[in-house]
Amino acid sequence: MGKTVICPGSFDPVTLGHLDIISRASKMFDHVIVAVLVNPAKEQSSFSIQERIELLVEATKGLDNIEIVSFQGLLAEYAKERNVTVIVKGLRAVSDFEYEFQMALTNKRINPELETIFLTTESKYMYLSSSIVKQIASLGGSIKGFVPDCVLDRIVERLSKKQLPENSED
Ligand code: ADP
Repeated sequence: MGKTVICPGSFDPVTLGHLDIISRASKMFDHVIVAVLVNPAKEQSSFSIQERIELLVEATKGLDNIEIVSFQGLLAEYAKERNVTVIVKGLRAVSDFEYEFQMALTNKRINPELETIFLTTESKYMYLSSSIVKQIASLGGSIKGFVPDCVLDRIVERLSKKQLPENSED
């Protein structure tokens, strides 16, 4: 059996930064599980799990060794259940480092078999995140070039439906 890895994240929504990491992982490994974290504490999510999965499926249509799933609970446990020993993550600015380092060491402590591999972001995606995409869209800006073209309209439409409370200054 070939090497399977997990690319975990919130993907709320998928960006070109995510897709870059997923497609690079798909070239390096035989099978890539893109795992959308169901985080009950993260009430701030803009897209439902189902929507995030659908957008990821559409965005990765050209890649044939990708599986899109959602998972609940600890990533280290989920990896064990799936018999996966490698996690692939993207590393952006220095600000990502401290958190990712902590996560990688914690995951390894829970599941000592588990290794975390970091792929450095493409420089053009260095400051790209789902929250930036949402912020730009909510202010009426264009998110073309930030999210995959094939899901651009869907993301824009969905974000435009998100009403802010009246008189909200946030
Ligand atoms: P965010 O909500 O910050 O966009 P996620 O939790 O959805 O991030 O991220 C999932 C994975 O994708 C993480 O490994 C994260 O480091 C990586 N990632 C997110 N955006 C980028 C980017 N612009 N370049 C490289 N990796 C990225």
